[in-house]
Amino acid sequence: MEQIRQAMHKNLIIAMEAFQIMAEKERQAVEKIIREILAVKYHMENLAADRGYSQACRDAIPTCRGECCKWHFPENLTYVDFFIAIYNMPVEKQNELSELILDNRRHQCPVLMKNGCFFSFEQRPVACTNAYPCFNDRSYWEEKEAQSVLIRKAFRAVSEIVPFGSAE
Ligand code: SF4
Ligand code: SF4
Repeated sequence: MEQIRQAMHKNLIIAMEAFQIMAEKERQAVEKIIREILAVKYHMENLAADRGYSQACRDAIPTCRGECCKWHFPENLTYVDFFIAIYNMPVEKQNELSELILDNRRHQCPVLMKNGCFFSFEQRPVACTNAYPCFNDRSYWEEKEAQSVLIRKAFRAVSEIVPFGSAE
């Protein structure tokens, strides 16, 4: 658990530093890809909403308190995951997130607070958005796997554009 926390903090810092030093040209190129990633994320969210999964999760969170985040996923959020998740986040909030990850030793995912994720339900990292371990059925899962191919390709493109310097 400690290893995961450290790795996540390192990845967040890499993402934050890249965010600070990125040139305008890179920013424009990466914004286009992030829009594509978000389109896939929203497609899956709509599917989950249509099937009632998202509402079921919202209703369950006061009771389950994000049990899935404690044990099932993710083992580690990569610096690309963090970069995309913080892309529209003010710097003060990014710093708050960094402190939370350093201090929070309660759960496998240090982003999980007492009452749920630090990110809003809508702003959760892509890796966390599409899995509904308590509810999803095979056809939803298959669609998610198909969309993951596009997501992986887009993540690779982000890695190639953004100067994730300290990642090497
Ligand atoms: S998937 Fe299950 S454990 Fe996770 S938030 Fe939804 S209801 Fe809770
Ligand atoms: S980042 Fe948020 S949604 Fe993702 S596993 Fe951690 S607490 Fe759960």
